[in-house]
Amino acid sequence: MMNEEMKKNGGRRVAMFPGSFDPFTIGHESIVERALPLFDEIVIAIGVNYNKQTLTTAEERLAWIRGIFRDEPRVRVIHYTGLTVDAARECGATYILRGVRMVQDFEYEKNIAETNRALSGIETVLLYTLPEYGHISSTIVRELVKWGHDVSAFLPRNCDPRLIPSTWKLNQ
Ligand code: ADP
Repeated sequence: MMNEEMKKNGGRRVAMFPGSFDPFTIGHESIVERALPLFDEIVIAIGVNYNKQTLTTAEERLAWIRGIFRDEPRVRVIHYTGLTVDAARECGATYILRGVRMVQDFEYEKNIAETNRALSGIETVLLYTLPEYGHISSTIVRELVKWGHDVSAFLPRNCDPRLIPSTWKLNQ
């Protein structure tokens, strides 16, 4: 059965995966890969907050994530400012995709999902992280980068080394 948003979208199931992705980790990649069988298209949407200090610029993140999914035509990467539901509507998404690692994530996601549904009718689909990625977060990767550690074990394997910001230390 189609929901109202899907009818407007020619019946295509499009999910938007919003996040800061600073940086995009192997945990994020796994959520996208596991969600691909559920949707026709996944739009990875980098939320940009110009007041927040980030490890990488929005442009670097865009190029970096596009590189990771260069062979997957059903994944699109954009960046946005403003409300997530507005960005979702703009890119034709009828669902929001998020990942859950632990109880804290669950409670946080519940509030956002309820607000987004009340604002727009857009439903949120949550996937639990794979146990082996449960401890991986962008915050930890940023901290390791700050202290000059090799973070390649936390990043998608097929990322294009030419697109990796030069400040990162990687064994590749
Ligand atoms: P935000 O700043 O909006 O939380 P993040 O970039 O930190 O954005 O995360 C985007 C989404 O990916 C969130 O739903 C988050 O819970 C999920 N996520 C982050 N790390 C992992 C991981 N290791 N495994 C599964 N999901 C994850």
